[in-house]
Amino acid sequence: MFLDILLGLFWATLTSFIFDVPLTPWWLFLGVLFAFLPDTDFWIELLERGTVGGKKLGAHRVLTHIPFLFVIPAILLFVYGGPALGTLFILGVYGHFLHDATGMGYGYRLLYPFSPLFYKFFSDKDGTISYTRKNLLVHWTKEEVEALHEKHGNDDWLQDDIRYHQEHWRELVLQIIILILVITLFYHVLT
Ligand SMILES: [Zn+2]
Repeated sequence: MFLDILLGLFWATLTSFIFDVPLTPWWLFLGVLFAFLPDTDFWIELLERGTVGGKKLGAHRVLTHIPFLFVIPAILLFVYGGPALGTLFILGVYGHFLHDATGMGYGYRLLYPFSPLFYKFFSDKDGTISYTRKNLLVHWTKEEVEALHEKHGNDDWLQDDIRYHQEHWRELVLQIIILILVITLFYHVLT
């Protein structure tokens, strides 16, 4: 999540510089909003189940983690909203897809509706991060992803995560301060 906010602010700053758009709070907000858009299914699953992930594969990483879904909105925004807004949308949405294709979890349906498989880069077949050539790209069927959730999932991860942040709130404040400083510095270097 922290990375999504950081990327959203970064894309807003970058497009503001490239397209000479004023870096207003609204532009920064749009950058963060677009960077979070593929995670709409996170909130859908949270509403449906009261939790997300764990031992069960729900809507998250399934329903709106479909890169193809955002192609037409991107074109429409580009045409009707202008190149700056269109580019901010593309960077936000597809930057999210880029980092969800690695790291935690079991990827997403990269080529849906053309392929039903879940793809992840730099991972072994068990979902563990691995930077070897053999593990450059793995794929799973939906049934395999469900089995991996069943095997490795922690049903309380969300509560554990919230508890962790409540206990370590100073770290979060520090991260936010660093984030603001980095963005301010980055903007001043660019302009
Ligand atoms: Zn995501």
